[in-house]
Amino acid sequence: MVYSEHKSATAVARPFCQKNGDASGRTVLIIEDNAANAKLVRDVLELEGYATLVARTAWYGISLAKERKPDLIIMDIGLPEIDGFTAAEILKADHDTANIRILALTAYAMEGDAEKCIAAGCDAYLSKPVSINGFLTAVKQFLGP
Ligand code: MN
Repeated sequence: MVYSEHKSATAVARPFCQKNGDASGRTVLIIEDNAANAKLVRDVLELEGYATLVARTAWYGISLAKERKPDLIIMDIGLPEIDGFTAAEILKADHDTANIRILALTAYAMEGDAEKCIAAGCDAYLSKPVSINGFLTAVKQFLGP
């Protein structure tokens, strides 16, 4: 299953939420196969005022990136079909998406993963578990406050 936006579901789930920041106009694409992780990342970013798109597979994420030109991509590494390293290589090799910054998130950091992420074209790398503050700090380094 793939999905993109769940704005109505989100509004029902969080009727009293106020946005903390004004990140108007900036969109973050989350490529993550784990639904709970994707929801957490999406909720954190939406609270900061970013618009979000979610893809559960790398191929869908790549097609969304080409179509919607997000300002940043949050890339899980462990994904079905093709992994996040390969997806980053494909995105960076395509002139439509080469300039989109990619922040990689990996579940169980293996020695050499950071280097592999950067070699694949990711612009930054965080290993899970990531604190919300650490995550937002990394996002804001790319997108501003
Ligand atoms: Mn995963």
